[in-house]
Amino acid sequence: MSILVMKFGGTSVATLDRIARAAKRVAVEVANGHNVIVIVSAMSGKTNELVGWVNETSPLYDAREYDAVVSSGENVTAGLMALRLQEMDVPARSWQGWQVPLKTNSAHSSARIEEIPPENILAKFDEGMKVAVVAGFQGISPEGRITTLGRGGSDTTAVAFAAAFEAVRCDIYTDVDGVYTTDPRICDKARKLDRIAFEEMLELASLGAKVLQTRSVELAMRYKVKLRVLSSFEEMSDDAGTLVCDEEDIMESNVVAGVAYSRDEAKMTLISVADRPGIAAAIFGPLAEAGVNVDMIVQNISEDGRTDMTFSCPVDQVARAEEAMRKAQDAGEISYHELISDKDVAKVSVVGIGMRSHAGVAAKMFDALSSEGVNIKVITTSEIKISVLIDRKYMELAVQALHDCFELEKAA
Ligand code: ADP
Ligand code: ASP
Ligand code: MG
Repeated sequence: MSILVMKFGGTSVATLDRIARAAKRVAVEVANGHNVIVIVSAMSGKTNELVGWVNETSPLYDAREYDAVVSSGENVTAGLMALRLQEMDVPARSWQGWQVPLKTNSAHSSARIEEIPPENILAKFDEGMKVAVVAGFQGISPEGRITTLGRGGSDTTAVAFAAAFEAVRCDIYTDVDGVYTTDPRICDKARKLDRIAFEEMLELASLGAKVLQTRSVELAMRYKVKLRVLSSFEEMSDDAGTLVCDEEDIMESNVVAGVAYSRDEAKMTLISVADRPGIAAAIFGPLAEAGVNVDMIVQNISEDGRTDMTFSCPVDQVARAEEAMRKAQDAGEISYHELISDKDVAKVSVVGIGMRSHAGVAAKMFDALSSEGVNIKVITTSEIKISVLIDRKYMELAVQALHDCFELEKAA
């Protein structure tokens, strides 16, 4: 049995017409001889609306009920897709996460997939069903409650199914025709890549390029899933889109593969904390316990035994971070003079495996930003990426300047 996974994102199932269009693609793949597992997102905008309703009802919500509500958008599109396929005489059935079952841990709102037993769906394929339409983004915890996989999680559902069913390929249908050198919505010179290495895609995703959820790329890499990103609005063809693949399968590539950004960051600085062994643990322990996702960290040189500590986190976690620091101060675990929160920053990053063997990328990046008068607030680097924190108002300018300076509009 040749199984193909096809995932349709929110814009691809946004209306009944679009669901019908997506269903036609599925029917073509069935005619090509595949058994298809279709993963659907909620209609675009739906999940945001559901999250809004939860926040309005209960600002400090119970995460189990959050998942009960926000997972529901996918139930609708899964059922509608199955019905549309049936109307086209394609034998199809919908499955919610718990019915498969897609088993996760209990980390509500950002659960991790633990197991997808394939038996139930395979048995239906054996009986002649051609398409299993599965609601993306949702699973079931060991306690038997509905979980969700974090925003953008349907990508991860798709790749996990491709791994569990040893699919021939996992096609991610979205509203752009592939992975670009940067977000084509903010840089009109962005160039579509035919191929991108797993490592690069992983960094781009984790640094903000939302075209694929980070976890989906991790899974594809680990289980060697053939992963393709393509548009649901263009003609079907075998070489459409972007293939995410091993580094060895790419003939030539630029030193910098792409530029990513993350808009909603915050920079927090603790002024004058005691510089003593254990201080970092005393600060970041309580932040972790409060569920703050700390990203960049900088500790200044100390003077008279005191130092400033700066870190970044998502802007919607600032209140939680401030509270955690205040509590730690009140409990005598840390002492600081002031906590300054800057909520108007963004992170811009350049990514490329070529950086492993090329010096000078950082210098070139900083030069390009300074030519545009963009001040850098924090810098972090790893083997294949450099990230800077800057004022949010310069974010698009910075992305475009970096795209220009590394000449990403040209292929290697
Ligand atoms: P879906 O609803 O299909 O899951 P998403 O909105 O999650 O779609 O992801 C697709 C979007 O990702 C595109 O519309 C684009 O704006 C954005 N994006 C960000 N960076 C990139 C990139 N490097 N290449 C392609 N798209 C990108
Ligand atoms: N509907 C969910 C979201 O908007 C999951 C997804 O579309 O991938 O985050
Ligand atoms: Mg998405």
